[in-house]
Amino acid sequence: MEAENRLHVAVARAFSLQVHNNSVKAEIIAIGSELLTPDRVDTNSLFLTEQLNRLGIEVVRKLVVGDQRGQIRDSFREALGRAELVISIGGLGPTEDDLTREALAELLGRRLILNEAILLGIQARFRRLGRQMPEINQRQAMVPEGAIVLENSQGTAPGLWLETDGRIVILLPGPPQELKPMFTQEVEGRLAWRTTAVRLYKRELRVAGMAESDVEQRIAPIYTRYPDAQTTILASPGEVQIHLRAWSADATAAEKLLKEMVERVVMALGENIFTTKGESLEEVVARDLNLNGATIAVAESCTGGLLAQRLTSIPGSSSYFLGGVVCYSNDLKRVWVDVPADLLESKGAVSMEVARALAEGIRRRSGSTLGLAVTGIAGPGGGSPEKPVGTVHVALAERAGGKERTLHLPGDRDRIRWQASQAALDLVRRHFLYAQQGKQQNRG
Ligand code: AMP
Ligand code: MG
Repeated sequence: MEAENRLHVAVARAFSLQVHNNSVKAEIIAIGSELLTPDRVDTNSLFLTEQLNRLGIEVVRKLVVGDQRGQIRDSFREALGRAELVISIGGLGPTEDDLTREALAELLGRRLILNEAILLGIQARFRRLGRQMPEINQRQAMVPEGAIVLENSQGTAPGLWLETDGRIVILLPGPPQELKPMFTQEVEGRLAWRTTAVRLYKRELRVAGMAESDVEQRIAPIYTRYPDAQTTILASPGEVQIHLRAWSADATAAEKLLKEMVERVVMALGENIFTTKGESLEEVVARDLNLNGATIAVAESCTGGLLAQRLTSIPGSSSYFLGGVVCYSNDLKRVWVDVPADLLESKGAVSMEVARALAEGIRRRSGSTLGLAVTGIAGPGGGSPEKPVGTVHVALAERAGGKERTLHLPGDRDRIRWQASQAALDLVRRHFLYAQQGKQQNRG
């Protein structure tokens, strides 16, 4: 084991990228008191981060600050003390609470000068809308000395680009429909030629049927040996995502590193991994069904149509999805999919036997290759000591037999329903996986 450990460390060192510090580092400041309330959330920075990452720029910090001049100024000062690129969002409007320009001009000791061209542009924009420009809009034509004006094709507030002590500050407007085109048309090109060869390389693996801590335990010995890649483990209901990211100027080295990490993680987690490409479980199941020329139909109780919804969310789903029923009541379980009345009576609607009968019933009724069923207690009411809230049975029927699972799911109603659909889809995925392995064994 010791020798093996040493070998792993040596391999990791060999792939050590040593380029991490070369990526351009950016900070984003979202400005607006509304963003500090429960009503609004800063979505623009998600868009910006994605765009910046594409250019090889790493966002290392984000800040949300209210419409207070002193705080805005301090935020700029601190960000400029750390990052080469600072992008602010919002506070460029015409009203009293829009203070971004003023705060930055004050910090940098630059005068604000009325830009006649911008003023004419704003006036023309109002004329086109058949209105007189209110006096307050003149503020939007005030430009700090030395700033480059970024045209706003969708609104009145222009953006601004300033350089100071080798750092770049970019001021963008808050409305997403203005910020996005401005970034694409005015900012991206100007940034592109300042960036280095460093780019972000990433992989996303997803795991079904395992808890976050189990995933962590099994893969920590792997990823800790790769200090040049950032590994993030994210738990969400019914799946765990593993994000691997590497910043590098050397595409070949980065791809090789990630490929090796993915291979090792796949070895450690085996068939629990359902994708190494960030796909959803329904995408994977759709592909399996198509590749195998198989069709599916569903009989759902506690998921209330969620399974059918997910299976049909994929374009082209008509090639494998025949249809389904939501049979909530015992009567409809009996009438629509032939669940025997005595079974419902003796075992109860939430039972493995009924799940199996639902799956087999819908398969026979629809003529599909596979029948998939869910029955369970999503809560918050309806639980009992024998069958507490979160008890769910999923079953898959095929001509030669079937598969099933009993789950005890945590969480509220929405989470339980989602996890139930996840477990049902995973049953389909594993069915094809084992069928595939069976074929390979027969061949071998
Ligand atoms: P402002 O440029 O500060 O006048 O912002 C105008 C509008 O843009 C606000 O009322 C918000 O609806 C929206 N907005 C501002 N900042 C953001 C942000 N960071 N993410 C999403 N929307 C924003
Ligand atoms: Mg604002």
